Amino acid sequence: MKKSFAVIGLGRFGGAVVRELAVSGQEVLAMDSNEDLVNQFMNIASHAIVGNAQDETTLKQLGIRNFDIVVIAIGQDIQASILVTLMVKEMGVKYVLAKAQNDYHARVLEKLGANLVVHPESDMGIRAAHQLISNNLIEFLELSDKYSLGEVKLINSRLSGHTLAELDLPNQYKVNVTAIRRANGEVEFPNADTVVREKDSVLVVGRTVDVEYFDKHTTSKK
Ligand code: ATP
Repeated sequence: MKKSFAVIGLGRFGGAVVRELAVSGQEVLAMDSNEDLVNQFMNIASHAIVGNAQDETTLKQLGIRNFDIVVIAIGQDIQASILVTLMVKEMGVKYVLAKAQNDYHARVLEKLGANLVVHPESDMGIRAAHQLISNNLIEFLELSDKYSLGEVKLINSRLSGHTLAELDLPNQYKVNVTAIRRANGEVEFPNADTVVREKDSVLVVGRTVDVEYFDKHTTSKK
């Protein structure tokens, strides 16, 4: 069944969320207090509404509690972001994704019941740093403070030409291969007999230190 989305705040982050959801064919309501911004989303979102999300009556009239997922993409006005998160959760929205401005803001949003708190600038900074210090890590995603998923391209790798059973990566490197992106872009979900080849990318999950070790010790520098 299709989910319904409401995005409050149409800055760079909220705007990108609305565009991507709309491209994916999702029902999305876009809301901002800035009329010029809202006009830019008239033909993109299913509904685009000018309104102040801090006004409880406005949220009720929109029937915000009926949306499956509400994205609160208000950044600089931390008080507004906190109040809107509080009201939306109190109204019973099951899943709220909120954008935080800093770590303290993030902690408050989590305490208020936001299901996912993102901090795009610092999240992106962490990913960029891992890519800079890595050998052939082309994607990096922190799954928790200990675990990560990394996509590592096999360049001059001694792994190439071997099956996953032969490589025994969970024992040798403490990482698990969840998928392989072949050189032609096709993604495969491997089994023990799958052979990895030069220029494949392997998607590995494990402790962050082990994903980094795997990248450093199985491929040569990009
Ligand atoms: P980004 O980095 O995503 O561009 P930002 O973190 O700088 O944004 P702001 O520009 O402060 O965040 O806010 C994002 C949007 O949220 C703005 O377009 C702003 O008009 C809108 N906004 C702020 N407060 C409210 C509110 N109470 N109701 C509705 N929209 C709001």
